[in-house]
Amino acid sequence: MRSPVDRLRAAGMRVTPARLAVLQELPVGVHRSVDEIATAVRRTLGAVSLQAVYNVLDALAGAGLVRRIEPLGHPARYESRVSDNHHHLVCRVCGAIADVDCAVGVVPCLSPADAAGYLVDEAEVTYWGLCPQCQNHRRPSADHGGTTAGPTEKHHVPARGEGGDR
Ligand SMILES: [Zn+2]
Ligand SMILES: [Zn+2]
Repeated sequence: MRSPVDRLRAAGMRVTPARLAVLQELPVGVHRSVDEIATAVRRTLGAVSLQAVYNVLDALAGAGLVRRIEPLGHPARYESRVSDNHHHLVCRVCGAIADVDCAVGVVPCLSPADAAGYLVDEAEVTYWGLCPQCQNHRRPSADHGGTTAGPTEKHHVPARGEGGDR
């Protein structure tokens, strides 16, 4: 991937220390929240307000240099891997995010059964589950029985359409 300076120039954006610092804190494959980015940027730039970081991210997202991911129930994350239509694995418990290069196979249904006349050029898939770390935490252990029931339990899958089926 090109350097942050090159990416900013290619997008027609002025190169500023804040923009550079934010891009540098988002290497490919990394998905960070605004808080995490702000903390990292402050290490290089000193005092930077959260609002300033938001503004930089908004500008970068508007120019297509970063992508915002909003997993339900977890803070939004930003990444610099853009325009390749990759997908995400999201951990239900800790919100960890991993990239998935390509969704393959019939399930989960990348092609709409009926595109209703739309010209489709992108499919955004979010795979929800448990990251390896959280799976380890949930292994039954001698004195750790008090955790809330989680999606690892086979009989705890989300309820089927309530009332909708005949
Ligand atoms: Zn996790
Ligand atoms: Zn990603």
